[in-house]
Amino acid sequence: MKQHHSTRAVHAGEQRPKPFGAVTTPIVQTSTYSFADTDEILDFMHAKSNGNVDVRDEYGRYSNPTQTVAERKLADLDGGEKALLFASGMCAITTTMAALLSSGDHLLMAFDCYHRTRDFAIGFLARWGITSTMVPAADPQALEQAITPQTRLIFVETPTNPYLRIQDIDHVAALGKQRGITTLVDCTFATPMNLRPLEFGIDLVAHSATKYLGGHNDLLAGVVTGSREFLEPVLDARGVMGGINNPHDAYLLLRGLKTLALRVQRQNENGIKVAQFLEEHPAVKRVYYPGLPSHPDYEIAQRQMEGHGGVVSFEIDSDFAGTGGFIDRIRLPYIGPTLGGVESIIEQPAALYSLDAEERRAAGLSDSLVRYALGIEDAEDIIADLDQALAPIAN
Ligand SMILES: *Cc1c(COP(=O)(O)O)cnc(C)c1O
Repeated sequence: MKQHHSTRAVHAGEQRPKPFGAVTTPIVQTSTYSFADTDEILDFMHAKSNGNVDVRDEYGRYSNPTQTVAERKLADLDGGEKALLFASGMCAITTTMAALLSSGDHLLMAFDCYHRTRDFAIGFLARWGITSTMVPAADPQALEQAITPQTRLIFVETPTNPYLRIQDIDHVAALGKQRGITTLVDCTFATPMNLRPLEFGIDLVAHSATKYLGGHNDLLAGVVTGSREFLEPVLDARGVMGGINNPHDAYLLLRGLKTLALRVQRQNENGIKVAQFLEEHPAVKRVYYPGLPSHPDYEIAQRQMEGHGGVVSFEIDSDFAGTGGFIDRIRLPYIGPTLGGVESIIEQPAALYSLDAEERRAAGLSDSLVRYALGIEDAEDIIADLDQALAPIAN
């Protein structure tokens, strides 16, 4: 029987016994690897050219033992054959797209995704002769209709930021299979604890490991998981572009991953409790949380996710300045971007993204929108703090 997630988060991918009888995976701080003699080099190169690259490597841009253990753990949690770790989430996504797409190809993606992923499609892929179409999130029909004979990759994110829209992964996987198009899902907000797209037939999954996977706001990393076949060109591209993770961050990531199940369980619990509290509050106009029946994608979320995550977005009954005032009254979370760490972090997207009032309207970004990325603190304390910060608005 396959072990449960919390057990695998601790033990999967770990070598036993470890060097020196250590319980933790050591940080192997080396940029290169040596060989005993020419015969050993020739044997290694022969094994490598036959695809047997898991044994060891010859240079630090290709792999590192600390990073390899983190990759094995991540592959196991996502249910993939293999995982490739990168220096950041953006590095994982851009390297994967660059590896899979050629001039003349078409990339189909949902508009509602991490803004830097859009920037990559518009600012880089376009210059290389790769066209892209962006369709609204969680609109299966629009996605299907935008497919062209040149479409080589479908990219979606679920849940999305900041409105937590849920993409029907079954549908995306079926589209890819029917039309012979590779599918890539950015699953950063869900984590393997809440959603495992590979089990639905998606080809590749990307995460910003900077968020929940690392979980402590102390590292940058990204990962792509999937089958060996789909990851082979991505591995090659990583070797060329060089965006590999460093051994220190791989160690911190491994340390963070051991508590992933516990943390996400708490963040799921905090998510639904805070969403329910906000939905009842008179100073709150609207709550966006896929675990609430009022969310447009509630049914899909119920079907495909195990939990609904720790991010809750909401609009308060106020204007741009009033929303800023609310943010300034709140005491428990840090104010800033990012999500997924043990510390709660809050932001007013309209203040944080460098858009003027006109651009915010065009992007459908409400001035009074707040994104609360919940940490692992106690829900009662989080709610009490929200209550005092909302009180002046309600009255
Ligand atoms: C943060 C984030 C990224 C980018 O990851 P970095 O580790 O910051 O490079 C990509 N996708 C999503 C959904 C994110 O939240």
